[in-house]
Amino acid sequence: MKVVSIMNLKKSEELYKEAVNYLVGGVNSPVRAIKPYPFFVSHAKGSKLYDIDGNKYIDYCLAYGPLIFGHANEKIINEVKQQLEKGSAFGTPTEIEVKFAKEIVSIVPCAELVRFVNSGTEATMSAIRLARGYTQRNKIIKLEGGFHGAHDSVLVKAGSGATTHAVPDSLGIPPEVAKNTILAKPNDPETLERIFKAEGESIACMILEPVMGNIGCVLLDNEYLKLARELTQEYNTLLIFDEVITGFRLALGGAQEYFDITPDLATLGKIAGGGFPIGIIAGEKEIMESFSPLGKVYQAGTFNGNPVSLTAGFTAVKLLKEENVIKKANEASEKLRKGIKDVLEELELELALNGIASMTTLFFTEEVKNYEQALKSDREKFMLFHRKLLTQGVFLPPSQFETWFTSYKHGGEDIEKTVEAMEKALKELYG
Ligand code: PMP
Repeated sequence: MKVVSIMNLKKSEELYKEAVNYLVGGVNSPVRAIKPYPFFVSHAKGSKLYDIDGNKYIDYCLAYGPLIFGHANEKIINEVKQQLEKGSAFGTPTEIEVKFAKEIVSIVPCAELVRFVNSGTEATMSAIRLARGYTQRNKIIKLEGGFHGAHDSVLVKAGSGATTHAVPDSLGIPPEVAKNTILAKPNDPETLERIFKAEGESIACMILEPVMGNIGCVLLDNEYLKLARELTQEYNTLLIFDEVITGFRLALGGAQEYFDITPDLATLGKIAGGGFPIGIIAGEKEIMESFSPLGKVYQAGTFNGNPVSLTAGFTAVKLLKEENVIKKANEASEKLRKGIKDVLEELELELALNGIASMTTLFFTEEVKNYEQALKSDREKFMLFHRKLLTQGVFLPPSQFETWFTSYKHGGEDIEKTVEAMEKALKELYG
Protein backbone atom coordinates (compact mmCIF):
# COMPACT_ATOMS: atom_id res chain seq x y z
CA MET A 1 0.00 0.00 0.00
CA LYS A 2 1.36 3.39 -0.95
CA VAL A 3 1.15 5.80 1.94
CA VAL A 4 1.28 9.46 1.13
CA SER A 5 1.42 12.28 3.59
CA ILE A 6 0.94 15.94 2.90
CA MET A 7 1.54 16.96 6.50
CA ASN A 8 4.81 18.09 7.86
CA LEU A 9 5.92 15.23 10.10
CA LYS A 10 9.63 15.81 9.81
CA LYS A 11 10.41 15.83 13.52
CA SER A 12 8.28 12.72 14.10
CA GLU A 13 10.06 10.96 11.27
CA GLU A 14 13.45 11.81 12.73
CA LEU A 15 12.48 10.80 16.24
CA TYR A 16 11.09 7.53 14.97
CA LYS A 17 14.37 6.77 13.21
CA GLU A 18 16.08 7.24 16.56
CA ALA A 19 13.39 5.35 18.49
CA VAL A 20 13.86 2.12 16.53
CA ASN A 21 17.45 1.97 17.80
CA TYR A 22 16.34 1.80 21.41
CA LEU A 23 12.73 0.61 21.53
CA VAL A 24 11.37 -2.58 20.01
CA GLY A 25 9.83 -1.44 16.74
CA GLY A 26 10.18 2.14 17.97
CA VAL A 27 7.11 1.83 20.20
CA ASN A 28 5.92 0.39 23.50
CA SER A 29 2.66 -1.17 22.36
CA PRO A 30 2.21 -2.69 18.91
CA VAL A 31 -0.87 -0.77 17.75
CA ARG A 32 1.12 2.48 17.98
CA ALA A 33 3.44 1.42 15.16
CA ILE A 34 1.62 3.36 12.42
CA LYS A 35 3.23 3.01 8.99
CA PRO A 36 5.49 4.48 7.76
CA TYR A 37 6.02 6.05 11.21
CA PRO A 38 3.78 7.33 13.98
CA PHE A 39 3.41 10.96 14.93
CA PHE A 40 4.93 11.81 18.30
CA VAL A 41 2.69 13.78 20.62
CA SER A 42 3.95 16.88 22.38
CA HIS A 43 0.83 17.70 24.40
CA ALA A 44 -2.94 17.46 24.45
CA LYS A 45 -5.93 19.38 25.76
CA GLY A 46 -9.64 18.58 25.73
CA SER A 47 -10.49 16.87 22.44
CA LYS A 48 -7.19 17.79 20.74
CA LEU A 49 -3.77 16.20 20.34
CA TYR A 50 -0.74 18.24 19.21
CA ASP A 51 2.33 16.59 17.70
CA ILE A 52 5.96 17.69 17.85
CA ASP A 53 5.73 19.16 14.34
CA GLY A 54 2.89 21.45 15.40
CA ASN A 55 0.02 19.51 13.79
CA LYS A 56 -3.30 19.46 15.61
CA TYR A 57 -5.69 16.53 15.61
CA ILE A 58 -9.23 15.96 16.86
CA ASP A 59 -8.65 12.83 18.89
CA TYR A 60 -11.02 9.83 18.66
CA CYS A 61 -8.44 7.41 20.05
CA LEU A 62 -8.33 9.13 23.45
CA ALA A 63 -5.54 6.85 24.67
CA TYR A 64 -7.73 3.85 23.69
CA GLY A 65 -10.53 4.77 26.01
CA PRO A 66 -9.61 6.27 29.38
CA LEU A 67 -10.16 9.92 28.55
CA ILE A 68 -13.94 10.35 28.49
CA PHE A 69 -13.26 13.61 30.36
CA GLY A 70 -10.85 14.78 27.65
CA HIS A 71 -7.10 15.41 27.79
CA ALA A 72 -5.44 17.25 30.67
CA ASN A 73 -8.59 17.81 32.66
CA GLU A 74 -7.93 20.63 35.09
CA LYS A 75 -9.83 19.23 38.06
CA ILE A 76 -7.99 15.93 37.80
CA ILE A 77 -4.63 17.68 37.37
CA ASN A 78 -5.20 19.81 40.48
CA GLU A 79 -6.13 16.86 42.67
CA VAL A 80 -3.20 14.81 41.36
CA LYS A 81 -0.78 17.70 41.99
CA GLN A 82 -1.90 17.87 45.60
CA GLN A 83 -1.45 14.12 45.99
CA LEU A 84 2.02 14.27 44.39
CA GLU A 85 3.09 16.84 46.97
CA LYS A 86 2.22 14.30 49.65
CA GLY A 87 3.98 11.39 47.96
CA SER A 88 3.41 9.06 45.05
CA ALA A 89 3.57 5.58 46.57
CA PHE A 90 3.70 4.30 50.12
CA GLY A 91 3.26 0.53 50.16
CA THR A 92 0.85 0.94 53.05
CA PRO A 93 -2.90 1.61 53.08
CA THR A 94 -4.22 5.10 52.36
CA GLU A 95 -7.60 6.75 52.85
CA ILE A 96 -8.25 7.20 49.13
CA GLU A 97 -8.33 3.40 48.68
CA VAL A 98 -11.22 3.15 51.12
CA LYS A 99 -13.04 6.17 49.69
CA PHE A 100 -12.77 5.00 46.09
CA ALA A 101 -13.63 1.37 46.89
CA LYS A 102 -16.73 2.58 48.78
CA GLU A 103 -17.71 4.68 45.77
CA ILE A 104 -17.30 1.74 43.39
CA VAL A 105 -19.36 -0.52 45.65
CA SER A 106 -22.14 2.08 45.65
CA ILE A 107 -22.02 2.54 41.85
CA VAL A 108 -21.21 -0.82 40.22
CA PRO A 109 -24.04 -3.35 40.67
CA CYS A 110 -21.91 -6.49 41.13
CA ALA A 111 -19.34 -4.82 43.38
CA GLU A 112 -19.37 -5.86 47.03
CA LEU A 113 -15.60 -5.94 47.47
CA VAL A 114 -12.86 -4.38 45.38
CA ARG A 115 -9.16 -5.01 44.61
CA PHE A 116 -7.14 -2.26 42.89
CA VAL A 117 -4.36 -3.29 40.50
CA ASN A 118 -2.45 -1.42 37.78
CA SER A 119 -3.84 -2.35 34.39
CA GLY A 120 -6.75 -4.01 32.67
CA THR A 121 -4.47 -6.91 31.85
CA GLU A 122 -3.69 -7.48 35.51
CA ALA A 123 -7.36 -7.16 36.41
CA THR A 124 -8.55 -9.84 33.96
CA MET A 125 -5.59 -12.10 34.75
CA SER A 126 -6.37 -11.92 38.46
CA ALA A 127 -10.14 -12.24 37.96
CA ILE A 128 -9.66 -15.41 35.93
CA ARG A 129 -7.31 -16.83 38.56
CA LEU A 130 -9.88 -15.93 41.20
CA ALA A 131 -12.61 -17.71 39.26
CA ARG A 132 -10.42 -20.78 38.83
CA GLY A 133 -9.45 -20.80 42.50
CA TYR A 134 -12.98 -20.25 43.73
CA THR A 135 -14.62 -22.87 41.49
CA GLN A 136 -11.65 -25.28 41.54
CA ARG A 137 -12.10 -25.63 37.78
CA ASN A 138 -9.59 -24.90 35.02
CA LYS A 139 -11.42 -24.11 31.81
CA ILE A 140 -12.63 -20.71 30.74
CA ILE A 141 -14.79 -19.42 27.89
CA LYS A 142 -13.97 -16.30 25.96
CA LEU A 143 -15.54 -14.92 22.82
CA GLU A 144 -13.81 -14.99 19.46
CA GLY A 145 -12.35 -11.56 19.00
CA GLY A 146 -12.78 -10.67 22.66
CA PHE A 147 -9.70 -8.92 24.08
CA HIS A 148 -8.90 -9.06 27.75
CA GLY A 149 -5.31 -7.89 27.86
CA ALA A 150 -2.04 -9.52 26.95
CA HIS A 151 -1.78 -12.58 29.17
CA ASP A 152 -1.60 -16.26 28.36
CA SER A 153 -5.13 -17.54 29.05
CA VAL A 154 -6.87 -14.95 26.90
CA LEU A 155 -4.40 -14.48 24.06
CA VAL A 156 -5.84 -17.22 21.95
CA LYS A 157 -6.74 -17.10 18.33
CA ALA A 158 -10.30 -17.07 17.23
CA GLY A 159 -11.00 -20.36 15.50
CA SER A 160 -13.06 -20.27 12.37
CA GLY A 161 -16.73 -20.75 12.97
CA ALA A 162 -17.38 -23.70 15.19
CA THR A 163 -16.06 -23.69 18.67
CA THR A 164 -12.68 -25.24 19.03
CA HIS A 165 -10.15 -25.57 21.78
CA ALA A 166 -7.89 -22.72 20.99
CA VAL A 167 -4.36 -22.60 19.77
CA PRO A 168 -2.11 -19.84 21.16
CA ASP A 169 -2.28 -16.50 19.39
CA SER A 170 1.26 -15.55 20.33
CA LEU A 171 4.51 -17.43 20.51
CA GLY A 172 5.49 -18.17 24.07
CA ILE A 173 2.12 -19.44 25.27
CA PRO A 174 2.27 -23.12 26.15
CA PRO A 175 -0.44 -25.14 24.37
CA GLU A 176 -1.28 -26.67 27.77
CA VAL A 177 -2.40 -23.21 28.90
CA ALA A 178 -4.30 -22.31 25.74
CA LYS A 179 -6.17 -25.60 25.63
CA ASN A 180 -8.08 -24.54 28.73
CA THR A 181 -9.55 -21.60 26.85
CA ILE A 182 -12.71 -22.41 24.94
CA LEU A 183 -13.76 -19.99 22.23
CA ALA A 184 -17.38 -19.10 21.61
CA LYS A 185 -18.71 -17.22 18.62
CA PRO A 186 -20.28 -13.90 19.64
CA ASN A 187 -24.05 -13.68 19.20
CA ASP A 188 -24.35 -17.42 18.53
CA PRO A 189 -26.60 -18.87 21.26
CA GLU A 190 -26.61 -22.45 19.92
CA THR A 191 -22.83 -22.78 20.18
CA LEU A 192 -22.83 -21.41 23.69
CA GLU A 193 -25.51 -23.87 24.77
CA ARG A 194 -23.53 -26.69 23.18
CA ILE A 195 -20.34 -25.72 25.01
CA PHE A 196 -22.07 -25.63 28.38
CA LYS A 197 -23.85 -28.92 27.74
CA ALA A 198 -20.57 -30.61 26.83
CA GLU A 199 -18.22 -29.06 29.36
CA GLY A 200 -20.18 -26.78 31.68
CA GLU A 201 -19.14 -28.70 34.81
CA SER A 202 -15.45 -27.98 34.20
CA ILE A 203 -15.72 -24.30 33.23
CA ALA A 204 -14.54 -21.84 35.88
CA CYS A 205 -15.73 -18.68 34.16
CA MET A 206 -17.00 -17.06 31.04
CA ILE A 207 -15.32 -13.71 30.39
CA LEU A 208 -16.75 -11.25 27.88
CA GLU A 209 -16.82 -7.60 26.98
CA PRO A 210 -20.54 -6.70 27.24
CA VAL A 211 -19.97 -4.48 24.22
CA MET A 212 -17.02 -5.77 22.25
CA GLY A 213 -14.52 -3.00 21.68
CA ASN A 214 -11.42 -4.66 20.35
CA ILE A 215 -12.52 -5.85 16.93
CA GLY A 216 -13.96 -2.44 16.38
CA CYS A 217 -17.19 -1.83 18.22
CA VAL A 218 -19.46 -4.87 18.02
CA LEU A 219 -22.68 -5.10 19.99
CA LEU A 220 -23.81 -8.28 21.66
CA ASP A 221 -27.55 -8.98 21.49
CA ASN A 222 -29.33 -8.50 24.78
CA GLU A 223 -30.68 -12.04 24.45
CA TYR A 224 -27.14 -13.37 24.10
CA LEU A 225 -25.99 -11.57 27.23
CA LYS A 226 -29.00 -12.92 29.12
CA LEU A 227 -28.26 -16.42 27.91
CA ALA A 228 -24.65 -16.10 29.10
CA ARG A 229 -25.99 -15.11 32.54
CA GLU A 230 -28.49 -17.99 32.63
CA LEU A 231 -26.07 -20.69 31.49
CA THR A 232 -23.30 -19.57 33.84
CA GLN A 233 -25.77 -19.68 36.72
CA GLU A 234 -27.05 -23.09 35.71
CA TYR A 235 -23.54 -24.59 35.61
CA ASN A 236 -22.10 -22.69 38.61
CA THR A 237 -19.67 -20.99 36.28
CA LEU A 238 -18.71 -17.42 37.14
CA LEU A 239 -19.67 -14.71 34.69
CA ILE A 240 -17.02 -12.02 34.36
CA PHE A 241 -17.93 -8.81 32.58
CA ASP A 242 -14.73 -7.25 31.33
CA GLU A 243 -15.80 -3.63 31.66
CA VAL A 244 -12.36 -2.14 31.08
CA ILE A 245 -13.93 -0.17 28.20
CA THR A 246 -17.63 -0.10 29.11
CA GLY A 247 -17.18 0.68 32.80
CA PHE A 248 -18.10 4.28 33.72
CA ARG A 249 -19.00 4.71 30.04
CA LEU A 250 -22.26 2.99 29.09
CA ALA A 251 -23.60 4.20 32.41
CA LEU A 252 -21.99 5.17 35.68
CA GLY A 253 -22.41 1.54 36.77
CA GLY A 254 -21.15 0.35 33.37
CA ALA A 255 -22.75 -2.12 30.95
CA GLN A 256 -24.14 -4.18 33.81
CA GLU A 257 -26.27 -1.21 34.81
CA TYR A 258 -27.11 -0.33 31.20
CA PHE A 259 -28.23 -3.87 30.26
CA ASP A 260 -29.50 -4.70 33.75
CA ILE A 261 -27.52 -7.93 33.91
CA THR A 262 -25.34 -8.46 36.96
CA PRO A 263 -22.21 -10.58 36.54
CA ASP A 264 -20.41 -12.31 39.42
CA LEU A 265 -17.22 -10.37 38.81
CA ALA A 266 -16.28 -7.31 36.81
CA THR A 267 -12.96 -5.96 35.67
CA LEU A 268 -12.54 -2.22 35.26
CA GLY A 269 -9.72 0.03 34.10
CA LYS A 270 -9.20 2.92 31.68
CA ILE A 271 -11.73 5.63 32.75
CA ALA A 272 -11.47 4.41 36.37
CA GLY A 273 -7.88 5.66 36.51
CA GLY A 274 -8.66 9.23 35.49
CA GLY A 275 -5.90 9.05 32.86
CA PHE A 276 -3.45 7.13 35.04
CA PRO A 277 -2.69 3.39 35.08
CA ILE A 278 -5.29 1.30 36.89
CA GLY A 279 -7.13 -1.99 36.92
CA ILE A 280 -9.93 -3.06 39.24
CA ILE A 281 -11.48 -6.38 40.11
CA ALA A 282 -14.89 -6.03 41.74
CA GLY A 283 -17.46 -8.61 42.64
CA GLU A 284 -19.46 -10.67 45.04
CA LYS A 285 -18.06 -10.73 48.56
CA GLU A 286 -17.84 -14.49 48.93
CA ILE A 287 -15.91 -14.85 45.68
CA MET A 288 -13.65 -11.86 46.28
CA GLU A 289 -12.72 -13.21 49.70
CA SER A 290 -10.83 -15.99 47.95
CA PHE A 291 -8.13 -13.39 47.19
CA SER A 292 -5.14 -13.21 49.50
CA PRO A 293 -4.83 -12.21 52.34
CA LEU A 294 -8.24 -13.76 53.18
CA GLY A 295 -8.18 -16.64 50.72
CA LYS A 296 -5.76 -18.80 48.83
CA VAL A 297 -5.81 -17.07 45.44
CA TYR A 298 -2.62 -15.06 45.41
CA GLN A 299 -2.78 -11.51 44.15
CA ALA A 300 -0.30 -8.75 44.98
CA GLY A 301 1.44 -5.69 43.55
CA THR A 302 3.89 -2.97 44.56
CA PHE A 303 1.71 -0.30 42.97
CA ASN A 304 -1.71 -1.80 43.78
CA GLY A 305 -4.03 0.97 44.97
CA ASN A 306 -1.51 3.61 43.94
CA PRO A 307 -2.61 6.92 45.51
CA VAL A 308 -1.94 8.96 42.37
CA SER A 309 -4.04 6.72 40.12
CA LEU A 310 -6.75 6.45 42.74
CA THR A 311 -6.90 10.19 43.30
CA ALA A 312 -7.21 10.73 39.55
CA GLY A 313 -9.82 7.99 39.25
CA PHE A 314 -11.86 9.18 42.21
CA THR A 315 -11.86 12.72 40.81
CA ALA A 316 -12.83 11.42 37.37
CA VAL A 317 -15.83 9.57 38.79
CA LYS A 318 -16.84 12.72 40.66
CA LEU A 319 -16.63 14.66 37.40
CA LEU A 320 -18.72 12.04 35.64
CA LYS A 321 -21.45 12.59 38.21
CA GLU A 322 -21.26 16.36 38.50
CA GLU A 323 -20.70 17.42 34.90
CA ASN A 324 -22.89 15.05 32.92
CA VAL A 325 -19.78 13.69 31.25
CA ILE A 326 -21.30 10.42 30.00
CA LYS A 327 -24.34 12.14 28.48
CA LYS A 328 -22.25 14.78 26.72
CA ALA A 329 -19.76 12.22 25.38
CA ASN A 330 -22.69 10.14 24.13
CA GLU A 331 -24.25 13.14 22.40
CA ALA A 332 -21.00 13.79 20.56
CA SER A 333 -20.88 10.18 19.35
CA GLU A 334 -24.56 10.21 18.39
CA LYS A 335 -23.98 13.33 16.33
CA LEU A 336 -20.95 11.70 14.73
CA ARG A 337 -22.91 8.55 13.85
CA LYS A 338 -25.80 10.59 12.46
CA GLY A 339 -23.36 12.59 10.31
CA ILE A 340 -21.63 9.46 9.00
CA LYS A 341 -24.97 7.77 8.33
CA ASP A 342 -26.10 10.72 6.22
CA VAL A 343 -22.85 10.64 4.26
CA LEU A 344 -23.15 6.88 3.65
CA GLU A 345 -26.70 7.38 2.40
CA GLU A 346 -25.70 10.25 0.16
CA LEU A 347 -22.85 8.22 -1.33
CA GLU A 348 -24.98 5.06 -1.45
CA LEU A 349 -22.40 3.11 0.50
CA GLU A 350 -23.44 0.04 2.46
CA LEU A 351 -20.86 0.00 5.23
CA ALA A 352 -21.49 -1.24 8.75
CA LEU A 353 -21.62 1.64 11.20
CA ASN A 354 -21.64 0.13 14.69
CA GLY A 355 -21.97 2.10 17.86
CA ILE A 356 -23.47 2.64 21.26
CA ALA A 357 -23.02 5.45 23.78
CA SER A 358 -19.57 7.00 23.21
CA MET A 359 -18.26 4.03 21.18
CA THR A 360 -18.32 3.91 17.36
CA THR A 361 -16.68 2.06 14.45
CA LEU A 362 -17.21 2.30 10.73
CA PHE A 363 -16.31 -0.97 9.04
CA PHE A 364 -15.40 -1.38 5.39
CA THR A 365 -17.80 -4.26 4.99
CA GLU A 366 -21.58 -4.55 5.18
CA GLU A 367 -22.42 -6.15 8.51
CA VAL A 368 -20.39 -6.87 11.62
CA LYS A 369 -21.94 -8.81 14.48
CA ASN A 370 -19.04 -11.14 15.19
CA TYR A 371 -15.31 -11.68 14.71
CA GLU A 372 -15.57 -13.45 11.35
CA GLN A 373 -17.55 -10.58 9.89
CA ALA A 374 -15.11 -8.04 11.34
CA LEU A 375 -12.27 -9.84 9.58
CA LYS A 376 -14.09 -9.34 6.26
CA SER A 377 -13.58 -5.60 6.53
CA ASP A 378 -11.29 -4.12 3.88
CA ARG A 379 -8.34 -3.18 6.10
CA GLU A 380 -6.41 -1.53 3.32
CA LYS A 381 -9.36 0.79 2.67
CA PHE A 382 -9.56 1.53 6.37
CA MET A 383 -5.89 2.49 6.53
CA LEU A 384 -6.27 4.77 3.50
CA PHE A 385 -9.32 6.30 5.17
CA HIS A 386 -7.31 6.70 8.35
CA ARG A 387 -4.48 8.45 6.54
CA LYS A 388 -6.84 10.75 4.65
CA LEU A 389 -8.39 11.79 7.95
CA LEU A 390 -5.04 12.28 9.61
CA THR A 391 -4.01 14.72 6.89
CA GLN A 392 -7.22 16.64 7.64
CA GLY A 393 -6.49 16.78 11.36
CA VAL A 394 -8.64 13.88 12.56
CA PHE A 395 -7.01 11.04 14.48
CA LEU A 396 -8.83 7.72 14.56
CA PRO A 397 -7.21 4.74 16.26
CA PRO A 398 -4.87 3.36 13.60
CA SER A 399 -6.58 -0.01 13.12
CA GLN A 400 -9.91 -1.22 11.80
CA PHE A 401 -10.15 -3.34 14.95
CA GLU A 402 -10.34 -0.53 17.48
CA THR A 403 -13.21 1.58 18.75
CA TRP A 404 -13.53 5.32 18.23
CA PHE A 405 -14.30 7.24 21.40
CA THR A 406 -15.60 10.72 22.14
CA SER A 407 -15.10 12.72 25.31
CA TYR A 408 -17.40 15.32 26.82
CA LYS A 409 -15.01 17.91 25.38
CA HIS A 410 -15.81 16.95 21.78
CA GLY A 411 -17.93 19.88 20.70
CA GLY A 412 -20.29 20.37 17.77
CA GLU A 413 -17.54 21.99 15.71
CA ASP A 414 -15.21 19.01 16.19
CA ILE A 415 -17.89 16.64 14.99
CA GLU A 416 -18.87 18.80 12.01
CA LYS A 417 -15.26 19.07 10.91
CA THR A 418 -14.82 15.31 11.32
CA VAL A 419 -17.92 14.43 9.31
CA GLU A 420 -16.79 16.79 6.53
CA ALA A 421 -13.35 15.17 6.52
CA MET A 422 -14.92 11.71 6.40
CA GLU A 423 -17.20 12.70 3.54
CA LYS A 424 -14.20 13.94 1.56
CA ALA A 425 -12.19 10.80 2.35
CA LEU A 426 -15.03 8.45 1.41
CA LYS A 427 -15.66 10.34 -1.82
CA GLU A 428 -11.99 9.95 -2.74
CA LEU A 429 -12.00 6.26 -1.83
CA TYR A 430 -15.20 5.38 -3.65
CA GLY A 431 -15.43 8.18 -6.22
N1 PMP B 1 -9.89 -5.59 28.64
C1 PMP B 1 -10.37 -4.82 27.65
C2 PMP B 1 -11.81 -4.93 27.27
C3 PMP B 1 -9.54 -3.90 27.01
O1 PMP B 1 -10.04 -3.13 26.03
C4 PMP B 1 -8.20 -3.80 27.40
C5 PMP B 1 -7.25 -2.82 26.74
N2 PMP B 1 -7.58 -2.33 25.53
C6 PMP B 1 -7.74 -4.62 28.43
C7 PMP B 1 -8.61 -5.49 29.03
C8 PMP B 1 -6.33 -4.52 28.89
O2 PMP B 1 -6.15 -3.35 29.60
P1 PMP B 1 -4.69 -2.69 29.77
O3 PMP B 1 -4.27 -2.25 28.42
O4 PMP B 1 -4.90 -1.59 30.75
O5 PMP B 1 -3.81 -3.77 30.31
